[in-house]
Amino acid sequence: MIVVLKPRISRKEETAVLREIRRLGYRPHMIRGVERTVIGAIGDERTHQTLETLITWPQVESVMPVQKRYKLVSREAHPDDSIVMVRGVEVGGRRFQVMAGPCSVEDEKQLMRTAQAVKDAGATILRGGAFKPRTSPYEFQGLGEKGLKLLTKARREFDLPIITELLSEQHVDLVAEYADILQIGTRNAQNFQLLIAAAKTGKPVLLKRGLSMRIEEWLLAGEYVLSSGNPNLMFCERGIRTFETYTRNTLDLASVPIIKRESHCPIVIDPSQGSGRADLVAAMCKGAVAMGADALLIEVHPNPAEAWSDGAQQVTLDAFRSLMADLRPFIQAADRE
Ligand code: PEP
Ligand code: MN
Repeated sequence: MIVVLKPRISRKEETAVLREIRRLGYRPHMIRGVERTVIGAIGDERTHQTLETLITWPQVESVMPVQKRYKLVSREAHPDDSIVMVRGVEVGGRRFQVMAGPCSVEDEKQLMRTAQAVKDAGATILRGGAFKPRTSPYEFQGLGEKGLKLLTKARREFDLPIITELLSEQHVDLVAEYADILQIGTRNAQNFQLLIAAAKTGKPVLLKRGLSMRIEEWLLAGEYVLSSGNPNLMFCERGIRTFETYTRNTLDLASVPIIKRESHCPIVIDPSQGSGRADLVAAMCKGAVAMGADALLIEVHPNPAEAWSDGAQQVTLDAFRSLMADLRPFIQAADRE
């Protein structure tokens, strides 16, 4: 911690601060400037009592941490990129992965048609929501276990691993029994007990960014997964809420190089929730690839106009096929396969 003292304080006031720093188990190191004195308090902030309360002292101007608050998700802890294995599919390796499928699983025909089309177009993981977090309680809440069963049927038929949302601690065992990746949604991004429970299943976890979450908070939420003994974490940027109304959310592509710098975990982009508009999805995907994302999570529906959720942002099967073809040169340019 760095403790900055106010100018023109007495020696007695200064000595009191030094004494307190020592009492809390740190070694103070004084840096005397012309105007101000700065004290570097040396010691591990994670194991010692916090020095933050020194801010309440009248002679102290500011107290700043030097160490990052996250550890296991950080690049320092693991300099190489982590690769998350999902039933033989590597996320975070050289191969760029595309997870695609409907926002919600609606019925067998809808899911199978979509699974076939996304597989043919080159997707490597099938998405589909069975438990849906809806803003209104009167909207379609998902098929629940029936949806999970349909997903596993599609997995068998098309040999695609499946990703689906885990909405509640109540469903952990149920969803983990079926899913290959547990998606933690935006609304649950800081539901720490859910993150711990998801981590303890040992399944790969895809952690969406919360609607108004800072990147540091997102990394710290990810820290809950790793510190619960599960290294198979993927971050997923899906747009944050801003003042803009032309898009549903503002897709923060800067988060890609930032997560890459700060963390070794893969970063996935969801351009569908990230824009809320099917006509923007292809452009967002190209941007994501160019920024260095490891994978995409795209909503695809055979007939978006009749979708039971998120109709405006789901791309058609045809649009998905051409999007995948258009992405190819971008994937190569980003030095991925
Ligand atoms: C979804 O993927 O359909 C979804 C609900 O995502 P988010 O949590 O990002 O809103
Ligand atoms: Mn959706």
